[in-house]
Amino acid sequence: MPRIAARFYDPTGSRYGIPTYPWRMAPDGLATKRQLAARGLRPGGAAVAAQVMWQQRRGVGVAYLYQVAEAKPKRTPTAGNLRAVAAMLAARSTCQVCRLTFDYCLPVGRVCLHCAEPDRYGRDANTPSAA
Ligand SMILES: [Zn+2]
Repeated sequence: MPRIAARFYDPTGSRYGIPTYPWRMAPDGLATKRQLAARGLRPGGAAVAAQVMWQQRRGVGVAYLYQVAEAKPKRTPTAGNLRAVAAMLAARSTCQVCRLTFDYCLPVGRVCLHCAEPDRYGRDANTPSAA
């Protein structure tokens, strides 16, 4: 093991308080939050089981590790959640003047360019279809 890694090798936690491993040397069965997320999991209230540490240009990087076996599936949004999000997006992309719905979010005030500056942005060019 390279010396720089040995500094962060503390599987009993005697030095760092919790089991600590150099980057990429953590045992199987442990994963960072991001690694859990990539597998459709989340810590789900489980305690931090260990940590990985690595030398960065400025100081030491730390990432907490969780037991994969204790992880829970990511919450999937309910139909109600999805409806709420859709309604919110629709409100954000609907012009308050002409009531057209755009496929992007309008600026604060929710007025489209055509209505905000009719002289510059005539109604003819790029008029979206009403939703
Ligand atoms: Zn408008």
